[in-house]
Amino acid sequence: MRRLLIAGNWKMNHGPSQSREFGRDLKAKGLQDFSPEILLCPPYVSIQALRESLEGTPVQIGGQNLHQEPKGAYTGEISGEMLKEAGCVYVLIGHSERRQYFHETDDLVHAKILRAHDAGLIPVVCIGETLEERENGITKDVITRQLKGALEGLSPEIMKTLVLAYEPVWAIGTGKTATAGQAQEVHAMIRKILKESFSTEISENTRILYGGSAKPNNAEELLSEADIDGLLIGGASLKTEDFYTIIGIA
Ligand code: PEP
Repeated sequence: MRRLLIAGNWKMNHGPSQSREFGRDLKAKGLQDFSPEILLCPPYVSIQALRESLEGTPVQIGGQNLHQEPKGAYTGEISGEMLKEAGCVYVLIGHSERRQYFHETDDLVHAKILRAHDAGLIPVVCIGETLEERENGITKDVITRQLKGALEGLSPEIMKTLVLAYEPVWAIGTGKTATAGQAQEVHAMIRKILKESFSTEISENTRILYGGSAKPNNAEELLSEADIDGLLIGGASLKTEDFYTIIGIA
C-alpha cells in the first residue's frame, strides 16, 4: 500500500517570518486527523522557522536541492548533512528549474541521490518532458532517459524509500495541468520502467507524485488515478488555505 504524499515546493518564496506565519496558520487549522504524509520544502534560510512553527504536527520539512559533495569549497552550496542537521527528512532532486537554469544533468541527479541517501535524506527525484518534447512525440524517450540516468545502479535499499515526481515542464507554474488521464498514462509507464529495471516489488511500492499546476480544484481528479500517489505543489502550496484544502482532499 502506497501512502499518499502531499508536498509543497516553495521555490524562492517565503523568508523566515512569512514561513513562521504560514506554519502557525497551518498548525492552527489542525493537522492531526489527516492520513497523507505532508511535506514542505521552504528556502534554506526558512527551514528553522518553519520547523519550529510546525513543532508537534506531522508536517515534515525538506530541502529543495543539495550539493553532491558532503562538504568543502563550494561557495553558496548546501550539503545533505546540513539539511539533515537542520531537521529535513526529504530533499528535492533534479527539479526542472534546476535542470533548466542550473544545467543539472541526469548524471548529476544520480550523484545527488547517492549523496542524499548517505546523508540520511529521502530523495524526491523530479522528471518530466518539455512542451516541445511532448509535441514531438518523444515523452516516453525523455522519461526513460531521465529515469535510467538518475536511477541505474541504485541499490534496492535506496529504491525502497526514493520518491519520484512526474512534472511535465509545460505544466509547471503555467496554470496548464496535465489531464488526469495524461498524467496517469505517464505514471503507468514509469511504473513499467521500474518493473523492468528493478523488480515488481519496487515498481509497486515506489511512490510517484504528480506536479504541475496542481490546485484545490484539480487535486481530487488527479489523486483518483491508480498510479498517482501524491502531489508536488508549487504555487498552490504558498497559501495556507489552498495547501490545507489539498491535504484535506487527499
Ligand atoms: C513545482 O514547482 O514543482 C510545481 C509543480 O509548481 P506549480 O504547482 O506552481 O506548477
